[in-house]
Amino acid sequence: MLLNKTSNAKRRQLVVGNWKMNGNQQLNAELLAKVVAGWQGEHRADVVVCPPSPYLLHTFERISGSSIQLGAQNVSQYEVGAYTGEVSAQMLAELHCKFVIIGHNERRRLQGETDEQVAQKFIAAQRANLIPILCVGESSAQRENGSHLDVIGAQLQSVCAHVGCDVFKQAVVAYEPVWAVGTGKTATPQQAEEVHCFIRAQLGEIGETVRILYGGSVKSSNAEQLFALPDIDGALLGGASLDAEEFLKICKAAD
Ligand code: PEP
Repeated sequence: MLLNKTSNAKRRQLVVGNWKMNGNQQLNAELLAKVVAGWQGEHRADVVVCPPSPYLLHTFERISGSSIQLGAQNVSQYEVGAYTGEVSAQMLAELHCKFVIIGHNERRRLQGETDEQVAQKFIAAQRANLIPILCVGESSAQRENGSHLDVIGAQLQSVCAHVGCDVFKQAVVAYEPVWAVGTGKTATPQQAEEVHCFIRAQLGEIGETVRILYGGSVKSSNAEQLFALPDIDGALLGGASLDAEEFLKICKAAD
C-alpha cells in the first residue's frame, strides 16, 4: 500500500532481488515456485530477480508466464574476445535478461571495480538493450566525515562524463550505503531521502523520471516506511530476496 506518493506518480515502483552467490537448482526452484505463486495477476510494481549467471535460464523458465522479470548481477565491459570468465551483455540479453546490476559495492570493494569500469559496463549493458541498475553509495567512513554526497556525485558523474546524463532515461539507480548492505543496519528515512533527492538533482530533468531504489538491509518490517517516501521508488534486496515470504511481503508493500 502506497502512502504520500504524490510526487512520484509517474514512476513505477520496482523491487529487485539480488541473490548474490546463493542457491542451487533445487533451492532456486522451490523459491521461485513460491514467489511466482504469490505474484500472480496484474501489479502496479515491477519485480525482478537476479540469480547467479549459471541459473539465469533455469530461472527464466520458472518465471515465464508471470510478470516477474530477469536480471543479472554483473556484466563484462567488453563485447567479445579473450576475457576468460566474463559474460557479455549480449549473452545476458540472449538469456532473456532485461536488467543488470552494475557497480554493486561488493564488486567495487572485493573485485576492485573502478568508477571508470563501472561506466564502461553501464554503456555495454545499454548497447545490448539491457537496463543497468547502477549502484552508488558511501562507506561508513565517508558517511561519518560528511563526504557521502561528494562520493555519490562522483559515482554518477563517472557515467555522465562518458556518455552524458541522458543515458539515465533507460536506467535505474540504486542508492546502497555500503554500511547498510548485509549488516542489518538501514539508513534512516531522512538519510535515504536526502540522498535520493540529491541523485535526482544531479541528473537534472531526467532526475524526475529515473527510478531510484534504496538498498541496504530492507526487510518487510521497514519496507513500507521507506516506500512511503516521495523519492524512493522501490528496493534492491539482498538477504530478503532469498526468503519467498519476506520477498513477497516487500513486493506487496511496493505494489
Ligand atoms: C544488496 O546486496 O544489494 C543488498 C541490499 O543486500 P541486503 O538487502 O542483504 O542488505
